Amino acid sequence: MSDILVQPVLRSPEIDAGRLLHRIRELARIGLDDSTGGITREGFSAADRRAQAYLMGQAREAGLAPAVDAAGNVLIRRSSSDGHSTDRPAILMGSHLDTVVNGGRLDGAYGVLAALEVLQACAEAGVESRYDLVAAAFANEEGALFPQPFWGSMALAGRLADLPREPLDHRGRPLRDALRAAGGDLDALGSAVWPHGSVAAYLELHIEQGPVLERAGHSIGIVEAITGRSLLTIQVRGSAGHSGTTPMEGRHDALAAAARVVLAAEEISRGQGLCRVATVGRVDPHPNTPNTIAGAVRMTVDLRDTDAGRLSAAERALRTALQRIASRTGTEIDVVADTRSAPVAADRRLRAAIAHSADELRLSHMPLPSGAGHDAQIVADIAPIAMIFVPSIGGLSHVPEEDTKPADLVGGAQVLLRTVLRAAATERI
Ligand SMILES: [Zn+2]
Repeated sequence: MSDILVQPVLRSPEIDAGRLLHRIRELARIGLDDSTGGITREGFSAADRRAQAYLMGQAREAGLAPAVDAAGNVLIRRSSSDGHSTDRPAILMGSHLDTVVNGGRLDGAYGVLAALEVLQACAEAGVESRYDLVAAAFANEEGALFPQPFWGSMALAGRLADLPREPLDHRGRPLRDALRAAGGDLDALGSAVWPHGSVAAYLELHIEQGPVLERAGHSIGIVEAITGRSLLTIQVRGSAGHSGTTPMEGRHDALAAAARVVLAAEEISRGQGLCRVATVGRVDPHPNTPNTIAGAVRMTVDLRDTDAGRLSAAERALRTALQRIASRTGTEIDVVADTRSAPVAADRRLRAAIAHSADELRLSHMPLPSGAGHDAQIVADIAPIAMIFVPSIGGLSHVPEEDTKPADLVGGAQVLLRTVLRAAATERI
């Protein structure tokens, strides 16, 4: 059995830096709000469809054959060297084209355009591959309009039971129609599922969306694991009352209790180090008026770690803290909803292949966790996965200022290309 690390790179396809950067600029015009400089390209919106059309047009111009599956994913397959499609397993690479509201131009889009560039470079150089190379733009990763994030990758990975049957957007409009407009078909969703064994490896190139690489001065990040997440929705119930006439003694102030929950969550991560990060991102006090003691508060706590054991320990510690705060403040505190996603480890051999590729290109690299969720964590259900990160200037993402130096964008694509070539030449990934 051959080994992924020692496979020589037989031919030398090259990333066309000018072409890649030009496409990034072109795509960034779709969904652009001139007043803010931000991009709003929510999944299954008209802007998202225009981005999809742009990608498919570029693929066709490159002599490649793009297709849209029933879930609305764009798939561009380069089959065997004679151009005929086969039932060989694929090396899949990609990301997503949709954005959050008023987001940046690189989150997702960069990984998709780099995957197209790698595919095109391989086609132009006539690279022989043991595997079909496939570039993917997964549908609705962000879930900004239709609140079903990871929609496309979940369908591809066969998680149909976890998807709603008739998904609706925030305003109650059916996904069914928007999906049809994008070339998909809700009734044929099963046809979008890729069976186990059909993906030999999945590689996702993405901006870091955080400050770690920039601070460390490295140009490539090799993701060790994608963080797991516990999102708890918490209801605090106290007693509302007049803020002027109710003595401090004997109050059951739900917002004062909620403030202690905020500090407890912070303490669990920053103080006790039980999980990597803990965040209270939403606090909704009721009635939320200046002269009434809050009678109830609904709030969220978001706990994240790349280790499942640590994540559940942090959640247990939080629940214990909630009981303590409830008894001290004379309130009732309940966890009314929870959403959990397990951490996903990146494949060890693919990580080593990325490191090897970066070394050859003399690009400095470091391992790091991914604090954000990515399609890769879903595709991990059916394939070994790995992710390559490039630095985000100022660590900014999901904002109009989101950016990465051109040299880093090109370097990331070069690492992706070399890693794909290594994997493509390996008998068993
Ligand atoms: Zn993304």
